[in-house]
Amino acid sequence: MIFNSAANLPENLFQVLFEKSPGSLLIKADEPRFTILAASDSYLKITSVSREEVLGRGFFEVFPDNNDDPKDGTTARKVFTKVIETREKLDVPVYRYDSIEAGTNKSQPHYWSCSNIPIFDNDNNVAYILNTIVDITGEVKAKEAAIESEKRLLLAAEATGLAIWDLDIQELDFTYSPQLIELFGYTPNNNITLNNIRNQVHPDDMQNIVLRAYHEALETGKYAYEVRIFWPDNSLHWIRTMGIVLFNEKNEPARMLGTIVDITESKRDEIRKNDFIAMASHELKTPLTSLKAYIQLLDAKLAGSTNPFIHTALLKSGNQVNKMTALIHSFLDLSKLEPGKLQLKRQHFDINKLIEEAIAERLIITNTHIIHFHPLEVLTVNADRGKIGQVISNFISNAIKYSRKGSIVTLRSEVVDDNICVSVTDDGIGIKLKDHEKIFHRFFRAEDDDMKNISGFGIGLYLSSEIIQSHKGKIWVKSAEGKGSTFYFSLPLTV
Ligand code: ADP
Repeated sequence: MIFNSAANLPENLFQVLFEKSPGSLLIKADEPRFTILAASDSYLKITSVSREEVLGRGFFEVFPDNNDDPKDGTTARKVFTKVIETREKLDVPVYRYDSIEAGTNKSQPHYWSCSNIPIFDNDNNVAYILNTIVDITGEVKAKEAAIESEKRLLLAAEATGLAIWDLDIQELDFTYSPQLIELFGYTPNNNITLNNIRNQVHPDDMQNIVLRAYHEALETGKYAYEVRIFWPDNSLHWIRTMGIVLFNEKNEPARMLGTIVDITESKRDEIRKNDFIAMASHELKTPLTSLKAYIQLLDAKLAGSTNPFIHTALLKSGNQVNKMTALIHSFLDLSKLEPGKLQLKRQHFDINKLIEEAIAERLIITNTHIIHFHPLEVLTVNADRGKIGQVISNFISNAIKYSRKGSIVTLRSEVVDDNICVSVTDDGIGIKLKDHEKIFHRFFRAEDDDMKNISGFGIGLYLSSEIIQSHKGKIWVKSAEGKGSTFYFSLPLTV
């Protein structure tokens, strides 16, 4: 059908349009009856009533007041009265009016959103109210389910001592679960701000760990660190935080969210363990020093002896004492190590010279292997000479330890981009791919039949990686099982 002008409109068009409109009810403003004059098909459908049942009847005869009606002025009666009084449209975004489910005859919770528009007569009085409703039960239930699952997540987090937090990076809007308040030493009804908790972080850790981790997180999307905090009562505690950064559509960091847990107890255990290792290592150093002195004395006294056994025995004893001294020193280093707190004494030096010294030192202890190193030029780096020497010695001694006698160990140094890169290659037992990352963890040793006869504690590479990382360098390995290994570290040239 084509309509050219209003004159062509069928008489009942507006009634048809109204009846087809979504969720509409036309009510007469004859307070308190509120007679229903018209209802759309969909209104009848969602309220499960027929047109004959409603037309000409009072609104509250059809939809009687409900015991669950809210007591806050959003009942239909109050809303209609208010529309007449104020002569303005009134929206009720969410209200509950339960309906009887066809078939089961049981009352089911139902949620609605409605709008009430006054319609005026010629004298400008409110004559009708157009009431439109939308069934939002699905949305409300989905929201309730989400709130319920969030509640459960919070309960689980609380039970395991985890606090959850969320930071809007642009707005600096900081939200957190109640557990966070207790983790920072406040009573539960306190409110804390991001600044509060930042001020509680130990100033050294703020500088060395938090700020560094924050900038790294903005690049990598992840962060994890452990820091010391002071509670308001001045007691010192340890926390561990882990989380992620969420980026917006422009790939800018938008939010950070994560968890915090109190690790004070385990840190105290660790500190006690470190103190014990430090004390034991220190006590072991004294007898070892005198043992070494006696071996040197004997060596000097028996210098003229022609008995080859005496010389070999003294050489071997001296080597074992050196090995043990090196081990004790690494234990001492380990016990002094606090995360992110390695003290560096930087100086400019030629790294090739340092490599040559490390090789020479090693050859005094054992010369079971052929060590190759052919430096081409002077490579000056600004770093802690003693500590970098320790890393090179560790790489060399591992290369020797984990490869057969007589095999070749090759050292290389080169400049790659803006970094000096040093590598040590051996032809030994190699490392399974799954262990490549783990070998840099504290106390990790690969589980392998070949390993059973090789002594070690799994701390050398951990110390090496801490040393290199504190120089803002990188450490890594390329290796395959049975095919030898190459260990690398690189240091930035521009420091
Ligand atoms: P340690 O040698 O005392 O066990 P490290 O921290 O130096 O401790 O090394 C950790 C582990 O890495 C070793 O136990 C070994 O499994 C593996 N590893 C290190 N260097 C090599 C190498 N050159 N070849 C094969 N495995 C190695």
